[in-house]
Amino acid sequence: MRTTKLPAGVDVPVLGIGTWRMGEQPERRRHELDALVCALDNGMTLIDTAEMYGDGAAEELVGEALAGRRQEAFIVSKVLPQHASRKGTIAACEASLKRMATDYIDLYLLHWRGGVPLAETVDALERLASDGKIRHWGVSNFDTDDMEELLALPGGRNAQANQVLYNLMRRGIEFDLLPWSRRHAMPVMAYSPLEQGVLLREAEVLRLADEYSTTPAQITLAWVLRDEQVIAIPKAGTPHYVKQARAALDLRLSPIDMQALDRAFPPPRRKVPLEMI
Ligand code: NDP
Repeated sequence: MRTTKLPAGVDVPVLGIGTWRMGEQPERRRHELDALVCALDNGMTLIDTAEMYGDGAAEELVGEALAGRRQEAFIVSKVLPQHASRKGTIAACEASLKRMATDYIDLYLLHWRGGVPLAETVDALERLASDGKIRHWGVSNFDTDDMEELLALPGGRNAQANQVLYNLMRRGIEFDLLPWSRRHAMPVMAYSPLEQGVLLREAEVLRLADEYSTTPAQITLAWVLRDEQVIAIPKAGTPHYVKQARAALDLRLSPIDMQALDRAFPPPRRKVPLEMI
């Protein structure tokens, strides 16, 4: 598995698995567990979850999938902004640890900015790190000016990643946030890399899938993964989808096909405020 480095020097896989909407439907649970196990078996050991997902149900599913093999995984979870006070962050993290039946989270993110002063959340995250409840912390849905503000805070430079919406249809970050992250050697975690399935029906993606005798999901993921500093976390609810995602890492799109994708999904020419799902 190809890896990228967090600023702290830790290697993390560039391809993981997302869990939003997992653990919510009893009839899908078996497939979802199998998908998570398949991801681990195939080196996609970064698992992205959050207290928000299914109100804790996704974290419970992650805990079940990791039974007996916790140390193989790199768990990313998130605290909701309304819980991100000094005490609230610690309580939210402890509840997540309990649901996942683990004693540490590898990377704990502030899900998005809310009403709590950022300095207070950073303080709580630093405390969690020094107590060993989390290994690292980062943020999500932070635009370039938010990142500048974060890094100016005491402890702010300990942030390890920013998880944002990024795919062929949402290229705004290429204008400033992606270059900013590169300058700071901080990976960007691309969420919704398939635009929640919408991209899989786009004509240019379908054409290239045909040309490469592969699937639209693989074209879409191969494009996101072309950037060495981007980590993709597709939600793949079955082992079949997980295997497709894994295979995307070995797919190289030619410069001509990259240009065709640029014509169909133009890169930004000016600052675009960060989009969120
Ligand atoms: P994705 O772009 O990953 O798309 C997921 C959808 O694509 C699902 O419907 C899935 O189907 C389908 N799919 C996956 N693989 C294939 C395939 N090979 N062929 C056909 N369809 C496929 O959307 P998400 O919004 O889920 O984003 C991924 C992850 O990012 C989330 O699960 C979550 O962990 C994270 N996220 C973080 C956010 C944040 O604010 N920080 C916001 C949004 C997402 P199926 O359901 O059947 O598996």
